[in-house]
Amino acid sequence: MKIYKGYVFRIYPSDEQKILIHQTIGCNRFVYNYFLEEKKKEYQETKRIKSAYDQIKLLPSLSNTYPFLKEVDSCSLRNTLFFLENAYQRFFHGSGYPKFKRKGVLESYKTNNTKNAYHGKIYESIKVDFQRRIITLPKLKEMPFRGYRHQTEFHGDIKSAVIRKDATKYYVSILVEEEVPISPFVPKTIVGLDLGIKDLIVTSNNEKIKNTIQINHKRLIGLQRGLSRCQKGSKNHYKMKLKIRRLYQKIRNARKHLLHDITNKLINENDMIVTEHLDVKSMQKNHGIAKRLAENPLSEIIRILTYKAKWKNKRLIQIDRYYPSSQTCSVCNYQNKNIKNLSIRTWECPMCHTMHDRDCNAAVNIMFEGLTQYMSELRTTL
Ligand SMILES: [Zn+2]
Repeated sequence: MKIYKGYVFRIYPSDEQKILIHQTIGCNRFVYNYFLEEKKKEYQETKRIKSAYDQIKLLPSLSNTYPFLKEVDSCSLRNTLFFLENAYQRFFHGSGYPKFKRKGVLESYKTNNTKNAYHGKIYESIKVDFQRRIITLPKLKEMPFRGYRHQTEFHGDIKSAVIRKDATKYYVSILVEEEVPISPFVPKTIVGLDLGIKDLIVTSNNEKIKNTIQINHKRLIGLQRGLSRCQKGSKNHYKMKLKIRRLYQKIRNARKHLLHDITNKLINENDMIVTEHLDVKSMQKNHGIAKRLAENPLSEIIRILTYKAKWKNKRLIQIDRYYPSSQTCSVCNYQNKNIKNLSIRTWECPMCHTMHDRDCNAAVNIMFEGLTQYMSELRTTL
C-alpha cells in the first residue's frame, strides 16, 4: 500500500536565501492575483474559465512582460495556478468566491521534485542529506535544517516540498511517497476512550489525559489593547503586531506538540482504539484565531488518530454516540438511568455493587462496544 507522509523541517536560510524565498512568495502572490483577475473577467463575460493547464501556457509570455518572474522557481508558479483552480472548484461547490492574496503572516509556496538522468546518474531537485544535515531545494540550493535526528534516510520517493515562513521562522514540509507492506491485522490490545471536556480523554485503563494548552488571555488582551493605541503604520504598531504573532505561534506549536504526544502514545500502545462519534456541535469551527486555538481539540485528535492508524496498521473504531456508555455498568450490564446527571462523578452499581468512576466506566463500555462492532465486521467478511 502506498501512503503519503509529510515531514516538517525547520530550515536556516542565509540572508540571500531569505530574500529569494520572499521574492518567490511575492511572485506566487503576483501570479495568483494576476490570473484571478483574468478568470474573474472571463467568468463575468462567458461564465466559463480557462483551466490551469491553459493558463500555464501563458506563463512564459507573462515572464517576458514581468522579467522578475524569471528569477524564481518556475515550478512554484505552475503550482499556484493549480491552487487557484482548486479555489474555483471550491467556489463551484458552494464556497465563497476566490479572494485576492494579500501579504500575510503565514506565507508559502510549493515546488515539486523533478528527476533528471544524466550520464547514468539520477539528479533530483529536492534532496535531504541526513548525514550532513543539509537540505537542497530548487533555486535556493543548500541550507542547514533541524529535525528528525534519528532518521538516516527517507524510505520512499520525495514528491514535493512546501517552503513556509511564519512571523520569524522558516520551514519546509517534504511530501514522501512511502510503500508500507500490508500485513495481516492481528490485534492484541484494545483501548476505549471517553472523550470529554474537563479531562480531554479518559481511557478504559483509567488514564486521564488533560488539556494542558494554556492561553495567556491577559497578555493577549494587553497586547491587543497596546496595538490599538499605536498609530497604524508606525514602528511601534509593527512591533506590537509581531509580538502578537509570536504569541499565537507559540500557542499553535504547543497545541500541535500536545496533540501529537497524545496520539502517538495511544497509537503505539494499542492495536485498536475505540471512541464515540463526536457530535456536530463539538465539531463546529470557531472563527478568529484566538477562539480557534482555545477550542476543544477532540475533533483534531480523531483526525490525527485516523491517519496514524492507517500508517501503522492499527484500527480506529467509532461507535454510535447514542450508545448509553455512561449509564451502563461495565461489570454486570445493569442500566442506571440516574447517571444522566452530569454532576455524578462516581457511583455504585445497585446490582453488583461495583464502585465506578463515571468516565472510566464509560470508556470500558465504549471499548466493549467497539470490540462487538469489530467482531461482527469480522463475521460478515468471513
Ligand atoms: Zn453492576
